[in-house]
Amino acid sequence: MDATAVQGGGCDLFWPCIDNPQVEPMAADIYFTVDNNLIAASNGRLQSVTESNGRKTFHWRTETSINNYAISVNIGPYELLEGTYQSSFGNTLDLVYYYVPRKDDKVQQLFDEIPRMLDFFEQMIGPYPFGNEKVGVVDTPHLGMEHQTINGYGNGFKKDGYGFDSILQHEFAHEWFANQLTNNNLDHLWLHEGFGTYMQPLYAQYLNGERPYQSYLQSLREKIVNKFPLVSNKVLNDDQVYNDEKGPGQDLYQKGALVLHTLRQLIGDDAFFSATRVLVYGMSDPKPGQFKPRLSETNEFIQLINKATGKDYQWFFDVYLYQAELPILEQKREQSKLILNWKTPNSLPFPMPLDVSINGEITTLTMNSIEELDVSAKDVVIIDPMSKILKHEKAIDDYQIYKKENNK
Ligand SMILES: [Zn+2]
Repeated sequence: MDATAVQGGGCDLFWPCIDNPQVEPMAADIYFTVDNNLIAASNGRLQSVTESNGRKTFHWRTETSINNYAISVNIGPYELLEGTYQSSFGNTLDLVYYYVPRKDDKVQQLFDEIPRMLDFFEQMIGPYPFGNEKVGVVDTPHLGMEHQTINGYGNGFKKDGYGFDSILQHEFAHEWFANQLTNNNLDHLWLHEGFGTYMQPLYAQYLNGERPYQSYLQSLREKIVNKFPLVSNKVLNDDQVYNDEKGPGQDLYQKGALVLHTLRQLIGDDAFFSATRVLVYGMSDPKPGQFKPRLSETNEFIQLINKATGKDYQWFFDVYLYQAELPILEQKREQSKLILNWKTPNSLPFPMPLDVSINGEITTLTMNSIEELDVSAKDVVIIDPMSKILKHEKAIDDYQIYKKENNK
């Protein structure tokens, strides 16, 4: 089994192209000639298979514009699972999974996860973007990659207790957040990876409710390092973005997801999902066949959030995206008072409302300035009891140091 996966390395490793996210081929014809016992699986629709001299030539064609790195060829002794999915938007999608045969039924189990994932993405975000081509998965020797209409899968059918395959779901999320919506500069990669990662806890919540949602978010929270801001308003290359020593690296995933969780708690589901929909499709009521892949960037998302809410949330993004460090909630407990104050990098304004539970009763503070609450020494106080807000947590810093010291 062989496969290409050139995100970061560059599409120009195996075909001539301009390796920049702003440049997308409008269509691609992909021909691969392989030994007779092998199959070449790629993007778009299979046009033909021709045989000559003991070899087969597979011709794949996509007629949708495509990220350069999302063009991929996968070669193996594949067999094929096929099905269809009736979309609530009225179209019927072709589902295909090119897999390496094995003795158990894990391939079928993974294939059976796809319709429910489609239900989720179509309900939460909008129509599957490439319905005129296919929903495709292919076994790969690498962990996974968001190759348009032919998602690479190599997660070994792992289980983690959440009831779905997180890698398959993550790569599939990129059909919306990377392939349909593409950042116009890698500085905005959090739009791919933050949304792409937030879709896993969101799906856990969709399937089984609050406990898996919060548990998933907690596992992401523990990995956030806050060394570089998610967005720096510069034109960046792969190394400046992915390399943890030079840029946000893994924070694009975990911190991006927690920022989106916090935003959703702040503005509510209606505004959050309607702004997200316009970001992805460029329209509020997308229908199959009426939209094309589009380029966007952070600033458009901020404007869409402001429009959807009728308020100015620039302060939220100024702190969470453009600063490396998280806001700190300063807490002072005096004899009969609890004093709370947001401290932000560069003293940026941060009027983030805060829930405080005192002996089980929740008060919401506006936090426009320093807040004081009457609290006695024996009162039980829980700050942000529903875990709505991404903020500095000493316990997490301590845990990260402990893990480092103990090589965990
Ligand atoms: Zn990803």
